[in-house]
Amino acid sequence: MSLNTPRFTKRNESFVCKNCGFEVPQSSSTCRDHCPKCLYSLHVDENPGDRLAECGGILKPIGYESHPKKNYMILYVCEKCGEKRTTRFLEIDKIMPDSFDNLLKLTPKF
Ligand SMILES: [Zn+2]
Ligand SMILES: [Zn+2]
Repeated sequence: MSLNTPRFTKRNESFVCKNCGFEVPQSSSTCRDHCPKCLYSLHVDENPGDRLAECGGILKPIGYESHPKKNYMILYVCEKCGEKRTTRFLEIDKIMPDSFDNLLKLTPKF
C-alpha cells in the first residue's frame, strides 16, 4: 500500500515558544505550529508540518485577514529570511485556543 506524499503533514507536538517562553500545549484538533499567546511561530516548514525549511527563523505575526471559509488567517514575516506566510488562526480548541485579543492587535488586511 502506498500513499502519495501529503502536502500537509500532521505534526502535533508541544514546544516552548521562542518569543515569550510559554510552553505551548498540543492542539486538540490540528497541527499546532504557533504560540496561542503571542501568536509567534517558527520558519521550519516549507509546507505545513513538513519541517523541511532550513531557515529556523522566528515568524513574527504582522497582520491578519478574515477568510470567508477558514475564518481568520495570521500573516507572518520571517525575521531571518523575510519570507511571508500565513497560518490559520486557531479559534476553537479544547486544550487552548489562540488569543483573539492578540490577533486583533495586529494590522487587519482585507
Ligand atoms: Zn509565545
Ligand atoms: Zn525564514
